[in-house]
Amino acid sequence: MNKYDYLIVGSGLFGAVFAHEAHKRGKKCLVIDKRNHQGGNVHCEKIEGINVHKYGPHIFHTNDKELWDYVNSFVEFNNFVLTPLAKYQDRLYNLPFNMNTFYQLWNVQTPAKAKEKIQSQVVNPINGEAANLEEQALSLVGTDVYQKLIKGYTEKQWGRKATELPAFIIKRLPVRFTFDNNYFNDRYQGIPVGGYNKLMDGLLNGIEVRLEQDYFADRGHWDSVAEHTVFTGKIDQYYDFRFGQLEYRSLRFETEILDTDNFQGNAVINYTEREVPYTRVIEHKHFEHGKQEKTVVTKEYSQEWSAEKEPYYPINDEKNDQIFRQYQQLARNQPEVIFGGRLAEYRYYDMHQVIASALKKVSDHFIDLDVTHLSLT
Ligand code: FAD
Repeated sequence: MNKYDYLIVGSGLFGAVFAHEAHKRGKKCLVIDKRNHQGGNVHCEKIEGINVHKYGPHIFHTNDKELWDYVNSFVEFNNFVLTPLAKYQDRLYNLPFNMNTFYQLWNVQTPAKAKEKIQSQVVNPINGEAANLEEQALSLVGTDVYQKLIKGYTEKQWGRKATELPAFIIKRLPVRFTFDNNYFNDRYQGIPVGGYNKLMDGLLNGIEVRLEQDYFADRGHWDSVAEHTVFTGKIDQYYDFRFGQLEYRSLRFETEILDTDNFQGNAVINYTEREVPYTRVIEHKHFEHGKQEKTVVTKEYSQEWSAEKEPYYPINDEKNDQIFRQYQQLARNQPEVIFGGRLAEYRYYDMHQVIASALKKVSDHFIDLDVTHLSLT
């Protein structure tokens, strides 16, 4: 008999939620993670008493009351609201694009004037359909917003010229004609009081977690320890890359402690000029309204991904999606392994979405188990 009911590969949100729910149903779980900490990409590192978002800034937001209650059952959330700024040359602009942005760009003070200004700058594609991202953005928001706030940032993010990027990357550009700087439209938003590690500690409370254990270093062993496996690592690696590698965009972070209590007065400032090498600067204390004497800031750089770098954003183009579908087919034929999370499903998930996905998968799984059990008895 196996020692555990579930081996869960990966202690990120998907793995932790699955483990928590299985544990609640009396199942014995072992969670392994190849990193030296639990929590996946929401993990925070404490520096100068400040929770530093090690893998990029994370703001929890959702419209789903049940999901909000779920996360709040582990940790209280503060009232942080994301109101990012964009810096272009020596000026600051509010994001997302709203009446404050239009006022800062053109000194317009009414929605009618802002609409008029945008319409006068919109460039419709010659053939009726945008051939690339630049044409798409120009057709949606016109020249000033595109040149100052979109072009350089997007080119840095993707490492390619906007004219070489496909139009579909920007399907729509949210433009608001109210003076509202709240980045998200969701009803619930915040940061866990005490940081994301509190949320992850709550989810994994009472569950055995072993760190610095790479599933692929000894998969024969790991496959033998439990009845079922939940896999949240890279699906292409799980199948030995037999259809090829799935590609990602990666990030690099430069974090420093500054001897001032407030460096930029905001949690997130995007740098929208191509010439500035980083995409944004994060000042972590502002996520928690921190009052520490010093501050910690991180410059975020977008970079090409290669196998030894951290995979951040899946490149969901036709080529990669087609490769993914082949792996997905293999996974469907292997129902004894549950694949979930951003790496196993090769998709970008927000935190609330990955939690919802884990809750659904775990509940479907236990319904299936009950059905099998009933039909065997
Ligand atoms: P992960 O958190 O990546 O967890 C997977 C775990 O599996 C990792 O710990 C990894 O070490 C482990 N693992 C992988 N392979 C192996 C192996 N072979 N053996 C052992 N362990 C393994 N969402 C929001 O809602 N709001 C935000 O503001 C937000 N900001 C983001 C900013 C950035 C820069 C990025 C990249 C994402 C952001 N997200 C945000 C999304 C959020 O990070 C994800 O929803 C979440 O981390 C997904 O959880 P996961 O469990 O799928 O993956």
